[in-house]
Amino acid sequence: MKVLVIDDNPDDRRLMRYNFEHHDCVVIEAGDGQEGLETALLCRPDIIVSDALMPRMDGFQLLRELKKRKETQNIPFIFYSATYTGDREIELAASLGAEAFFVKPKEPDVFWDELSTIVEKCRAGNGQGVKAEIFEEDREYLSRYSQIVATKLEEKIRELEVAKARIEESEAFVRKILETVDEGFIVVDRGYRILSANKAFCSSARLAEEQVVGQLCYKLSHHSDRPCYETGEACCVKQAFETGIPQSASHRHISETGEQYHVEIKAYPLMDAAGYIVSAIETITDVTEKKKLEEQLRHAQKLEALGTLAGGIAHDFNNIISVIVGYGGIMEMRLPKDDPNAAYLREILAASERATRLTESLLIFSRKQIAEMKPVSINELVNGMKKMVFRIIGEDIETSINLSPEQLTVMGDYGQLEQVLMNFATNARDAMPAGGLLTIETHLQEMDDEFIHRNGFGKPGKYALISVSDSGTGMDEQTRERIFEPFFTTKSQGKGTGLGLSIVYGIINQHGGYVHCGSERNRGTVFEVYLPLAGGEIFGKEAVIQEAVKGGSETILVADDDENIRKLTRELLEQKGYSVIEARDGAEAADKFHDNKDRIDFVLLDVIMPRKSGKEVFEEIRAMRPDMKVLFMSGYTADVIEGRKITEEKLPLLHKPVKARELLNKIREMLDKET
Ligand code: ADP
Ligand code: MG
Repeated sequence: MKVLVIDDNPDDRRLMRYNFEHHDCVVIEAGDGQEGLETALLCRPDIIVSDALMPRMDGFQLLRELKKRKETQNIPFIFYSATYTGDREIELAASLGAEAFFVKPKEPDVFWDELSTIVEKCRAGNGQGVKAEIFEEDREYLSRYSQIVATKLEEKIRELEVAKARIEESEAFVRKILETVDEGFIVVDRGYRILSANKAFCSSARLAEEQVVGQLCYKLSHHSDRPCYETGEACCVKQAFETGIPQSASHRHISETGEQYHVEIKAYPLMDAAGYIVSAIETITDVTEKKKLEEQLRHAQKLEALGTLAGGIAHDFNNIISVIVGYGGIMEMRLPKDDPNAAYLREILAASERATRLTESLLIFSRKQIAEMKPVSINELVNGMKKMVFRIIGEDIETSINLSPEQLTVMGDYGQLEQVLMNFATNARDAMPAGGLLTIETHLQEMDDEFIHRNGFGKPGKYALISVSDSGTGMDEQTRERIFEPFFTTKSQGKGTGLGLSIVYGIINQHGGYVHCGSERNRGTVFEVYLPLAGGEIFGKEAVIQEAVKGGSETILVADDDENIRKLTRELLEQKGYSVIEARDGAEAADKFHDNKDRIDFVLLDVIMPRKSGKEVFEEIRAMRPDMKVLFMSGYTADVIEGRKITEEKLPLLHKPVKARELLNKIREMLDKET
């Protein structure tokens, strides 16, 4: 059997072809009514299956034309259409002489069965035949026909609108994905021209999308007219084009201002339907920050290791010197004044004295020195050092001091911080042999995530910033990388010990701060020291609000000789619902407890206080109320000995600086525990 299939959709035609060929038919295809008519006249099929709505000539017109012609009017005609608009359509089809009107899609087997039945019927002479009468009623036909076509078109438009909305939705979805990913990414064609770019890329390039699309990618990333692969860089886009598989590479890009930055690039080849690589997706991740962080970490680890080493040696060395100085001292007392060996002994003792100072410096660097932490006003510190600094730097160097209007209080060791400023001043003097300018400034600096990312160091919080800059020789990068190492010096023997900055590093580290150096050859040097503000991070309000910590309604006795800490602790506890009784020293704590012993549920004791130590107050409280819950807070390194007594007895102890959350949790935990 010969079947003529007429449909403008090639997929639909192919499906029908498979089905009919499977039943041993010969299938001829036509893409629209016009072509269908010509084919039918030429090939005389046994049956025609036609779509209704088609370009050039639709199914109804085709059917009319077929029925007009003797050669084709007896060929059975079946409509197979997806846009079905109702009975009116079927009626018109039948009135024009169609054998049936099938609605797409139809099961292949069912389709075939019904088709065969129709062919049988027509062969037996029971088909629709020619509906000659309708040909005369052209006007009637046209009006019915146009109504159907109009309805069909409306239907089609609706379908298209739905399809368009779906495409738009999916496009928006894809776009959203690309915009949400914060990795910059572009699509480039084989000429390295940018076809498309996402938001992350544009913002990292600081350009609008219109300025990016259409540009050559190497022009944007290298500001060069030559592709990067011609200048010896590994270009993974080129490799992706050549190999057809994804590629990645580390790359150096150059910003508009000429700065270099490090990026990691991946390129994925994109193929067209025929399998040709037409473009590539390129993702670009700026890893400059990551590299900086890695660098800082490596640096800190190196200094840490050096600190451990230096500290270990200094510790043992100290013991050895103690022996020398000890016996040397005894000998000095025993030797008669006029003994010729006395002069030698004095030399030995003087050398031991120098060795002691050296080990002290090393101990500071390795943070094994005991620091006395007290509130220090940074502006006062700098003011107090003015005279000393002038004396160190001499007359050829001009000084300028700018202090921040804010009161910057840090917990620190006054003497050690003075040492820091002195070491900076000494180095600045050495760097400006022919005179110059030394500037000391203080600022309030808030470290946020952005700051930390930009600089590669820090912890969120408020800091006092002291910056000391000079207009001296400056340093190259290799020198700058090593300046904090103990014994690193570029100065001639006898001039430099190489310990100044390692001491600075040790001191600032012990203070929980950061020191940073910026310098270039012949362009001067700036040292920046960041010290955490007292109360800023320790009992910062943000930290309290951040996480829900349980409070309570109990009464707590807080004893601490530091007014700031007492005030902050009170504020913190009251915020969480507790009642607070304050005591300024050990004796007052004992008295207040005595007066309120039935009301107090909990006691918070500083380890070292005037008049009575925390431990003594504790003994007295125990005598009055053996079940009382007491928590110790120990200060800094100086509290070591008192603190040890407390840890030996396994009494609960928190080390300062105590974080707000830690303190509240500990108090709650102890209050809730059964005794
Ligand atoms: P020293 O001063 O004994 O050499 P430091 O630890 O104080 O040891 O400094 C180490 C090195 O850092 C110096 O030898 C010098 O090369 C470099 N340096 C320190 N401060 C400055 C500065 N302000 N300008 C230029 N170079 C400096
Ligand atoms: Mg020095």
